[in-house]
Amino acid sequence: MAAPRVLLLDDEPFQLKLLSRQLANLGLDRVDTFTSGQEALTLLEQQASGVQMIFLDLNMPSMDGVEFIRRLVDIRYTSALVLVSGEDERILDTSVRLARAHHLNVLGHVNKPVQPETIRALLEKWRNQTTPKAAGEARKRYSAAEVRRAVAGGELVNYYQPKVEVMSGALKGVETLVRWRHPEDGLVFPDQFIGVAEEHGIIDDLTRIVLTEALTQARRWREAGLVLRIAVNVSMDNLARLDFTDFVLGQIVRSGATPEELILEVTESRLMTDALASLDTLTRLRLKKISLSIDDLGTGNSSLAQLRDIPFDEIKIDRSFVHGACRDNTRNAIFTASLGMARQLGIATVAEGVEDQADWDFLRQQGCDLAQGYFIARAMPAEDLPAWLTAWETRRPLLALS
Ligand code: C2E
Ligand code: CA
Ligand code: CA
Repeated sequence: MAAPRVLLLDDEPFQLKLLSRQLANLGLDRVDTFTSGQEALTLLEQQASGVQMIFLDLNMPSMDGVEFIRRLVDIRYTSALVLVSGEDERILDTSVRLARAHHLNVLGHVNKPVQPETIRALLEKWRNQTTPKAAGEARKRYSAAEVRRAVAGGELVNYYQPKVEVMSGALKGVETLVRWRHPEDGLVFPDQFIGVAEEHGIIDDLTRIVLTEALTQARRWREAGLVLRIAVNVSMDNLARLDFTDFVLGQIVRSGATPEELILEVTESRLMTDALASLDTLTRLRLKKISLSIDDLGTGNSSLAQLRDIPFDEIKIDRSFVHGACRDNTRNAIFTASLGMARQLGIATVAEGVEDQADWDFLRQQGCDLAQGYFIARAMPAEDLPAWLTAWETRRPLLALS
């Protein structure tokens, strides 16, 4: 594979020279260097620039790294990004998270002085991403028109991820996670189109399709003897529509479910436009016995103010506080505090992102109610659930003992 075209941005010419030389030693000879963010952007804005990787110094006097990241989002830069800094690890970590929150493809971060092995590893990662079809396509951003067509054309499919009881290992419910079966790009994940749907008023139609199908699927499972609580994600935009409650109730009746079988997971993925209307909807839903779950608690998507104002039945502790919590003081503290708060409020707890045995053991020790994550199962098409359940039932006795 040809070496990628690289752009280096650092206010210190010496650093640029050093990094260029290191890259050249690794066979990367198509390198453009800039000391000014503005000039780098001018190059990037030209469609034909073909830049495939940027090394960005976070500390620059005129346009700092954070501002540059924002500009990369504006120009819809989708290739790889590497953050470079002489600052401490925590600042680098935060910047990586920020850039990822903007859906930038952050390959990694490096501390100055940059080590050749680090660059080699990043390059390796880039190659893995870029081989057949991945990378560029995987991070593709879709237009509103494309998303609208997908919703109308029936290209959305529901995947379901099991939620199991921590103490017994029993399957209690599933979370509905939408996917887009794209005719050319294959399976597309929601972070590539939910935002667009929210911004362009498509989220209402999308949620209605997902919810209707989820309740239909719940009926099929019920008829097969499997009673599951179905979780569906809703955006604040859905709740701002005053007819939303009636729609949900209508679908519950149509599918023969009881309101208790449905749980709506609410995130505040962008600023609430009409807080009062959302509050109206949430209160009505609760009055009708439909459960509400606060998603991603503590991430900035969902706040304590929401917990105060809205009668939630369930708290989902974000995976950033779950995976690895047993080895990390900060995560552990936030996890334990969330659990304590939920207990005091009499609210059920779900830990997301349970990825390994250590996470699972940690939950059992802490006494969290439900668990969800790759350690248990990934999201899957409805038809795969019975086979997973059979396998899980053989694994379950071992896990319940640990
Ligand atoms: P979420 O509601 O926080 O959903 C959990 C996400 O974490 C899912 O990603 C799931 O596949 C992933 N996940 C589950 N277990 C693990 C684990 O052990 N480790 C890791 N690293 N990840 C895990 P997915 O399916 O890509 O969904 C991303 C987000 O898209 C969801 O986050 C949700 O906010 C949104 N979303 C999905 N479906 C819908 C929908 O129908 N409507 C709306 N409004 N949003 C949706
Ligand atoms: Ca969710
Ligand atoms: Ca979540």
